[in-house]
Amino acid sequence: MPTDLRLPTNAIVQPDKDRFLHEENPFEAMMSRFDRAADLLDLEPGLYKVLRKPEKQIIVACPTMMDNGEIEVFTGIRVLYNTSRGPAKGGIRFDMNVTLDEVTALAAWMTWKCAVVNVPFGGAKGGVICDPLRMSAGELERLTRRYTAGIINTLGPDSDVPAPDVNTNERVMAWIMDTYSMHKNHTVTAVVTGKPVEMGGSLGRREATGRGCMFVTKEALAHLGMTLKGTTVAIQGFGNVGSVTAQLLAREGCRIVAVSDRTGGVYNPAGLDVDDVINWVKHHKTIEGYAKGESITNDELLLLDVDVLVPAALENVITTKNAGKIRARIICEGANGPTTAGADAILEEKGIFVIPDILANAGGVTVSYFEWVQDRGGYFWSEDVVNDRLRDIMVRGFRDVLELSRQHKVNMRTAAYMLSISRVATVHRLRGIYA
Ligand code: GLU
Repeated sequence: MPTDLRLPTNAIVQPDKDRFLHEENPFEAMMSRFDRAADLLDLEPGLYKVLRKPEKQIIVACPTMMDNGEIEVFTGIRVLYNTSRGPAKGGIRFDMNVTLDEVTALAAWMTWKCAVVNVPFGGAKGGVICDPLRMSAGELERLTRRYTAGIINTLGPDSDVPAPDVNTNERVMAWIMDTYSMHKNHTVTAVVTGKPVEMGGSLGRREATGRGCMFVTKEALAHLGMTLKGTTVAIQGFGNVGSVTAQLLAREGCRIVAVSDRTGGVYNPAGLDVDDVINWVKHHKTIEGYAKGESITNDELLLLDVDVLVPAALENVITTKNAGKIRARIICEGANGPTTAGADAILEEKGIFVIPDILANAGGVTVSYFEWVQDRGGYFWSEDVVNDRLRDIMVRGFRDVLELSRQHKVNMRTAAYMLSISRVATVHRLRGIYA
C-alpha cells in the first residue's frame, strides 16, 4: 500500500487562505475556492462549518485473489461529501495516486458540480488504489466486486450512485450493478450510471462529458466575440473526455492542433485529423508513434499559442510554475481540478477566460442524471432527446454562471462556486439541522 494514503484523523488539512504551501493538495485547492466564495456570499458561520466537512468517509480493505494465486489487499475509499440536495453522486477511479484527500476533494467538487447545473444530486467520489493497467480483466472484476461489497451499505439509487471516472468504464459499472443486485436479490439498474446501454445505460452517456465541454466552449467563444471556424484548440488527455471534445469541436469547425495522452502528444499547426488519431489509438492503445505531426510533451502542449486549451486528464497540470506562460485565450477544464488555486490569480491577471471544471465537465453527471431518471421510469429516450436536454442544461449553467460573474465582478470559477454553494446552503436552511 502506498505510504501517502492519509488516514481519516489527519486527512482534513486546514487550508491556509493566503499561501499555497500545499499547492498540489486537491482538498486545499477546493477549500480555498470554497472559502473565497463563502466570504463573498457572507455565508453564516454555522453553514460554513457544515459545508467544509464531508458527511461520510469510508475506507475498506479489498482482499483480491490475483491470477498467480496470491492474495493482494487493495485499499478502497468512498466519500459522501454532501447529500442535502439528493442522493450522493460521483464516479469511482482506479489509480495508484488515489488518496483520501483527493477523493474528498473530488466528492466536494461533485457536490458543487451537481448544484451548478441544478441536477438533484449530492456529491460523492470513490477510489481504489491499484494499477489497473497492470491487472487482468479477472483481477479487476474480483477487485471491483469486493470493493462494491465493502461499500454496499452506502450504495443505492436513493442514497449513493457511482459512475465511471479515471480508469473505470461501462464494464466496471456492470460488475458493480450485478454485485449490488445479487445482494438485493433483484436487479437494480439505477444503482450506477454509465452502464452499458443493453442493461439500462443511457444513449449519449459515454460522450456526455466531451459534448458538454463542446457546448460551453461554444458559449465562451460567442461571449468573447470569437468564431468557431478556424479556432485553434489543444487538448491534454485523449480518453473519454478529451477524444470526444476533440471530435465534436472539430465537427463544429475548430482546428485541433494538438492532443496528448500519458505518453506524450502530437502537434500539427495545420490541424489534426481527429478521427484518424482516434483510429490510431484504437489500434495502438496510445498516441505514441502517431506520425502526422511533431511530437511534443504534455508540458509543451499546455503552453501552445492556441485559442482554446482543454486540460482533460488529471489534477494539478496548471500551477503557479507554468500559469504565467500559458497563451490560450480560453481554458475549458475537462478534467477535475486541473488548475491549482495559486494558478487562478495568474490566469485571471492574464485575462484568460477559464470555464471552471465544476461547470465545464458537468455534462457527464448531467447525462448520469438522465440515465438514473430513465432507469427509475423504465422508459428510455432517443439519443437526440438526451443531447438536446444536455445542451439546454449546459447552456443554462454557463449563462447562470456568466450572469453572476458579471453581477459580482468575479471570474467564472468564483461565480460557479458562489452559485453552487448558495444552492446547497438554501436547501440546508430549508431543511434545518436535525437535532
Ligand atoms: N466521474 C464523472 C465526473 O467527475 C461523472 C460522475 C457521475 O456521472 O456521477 O463528473
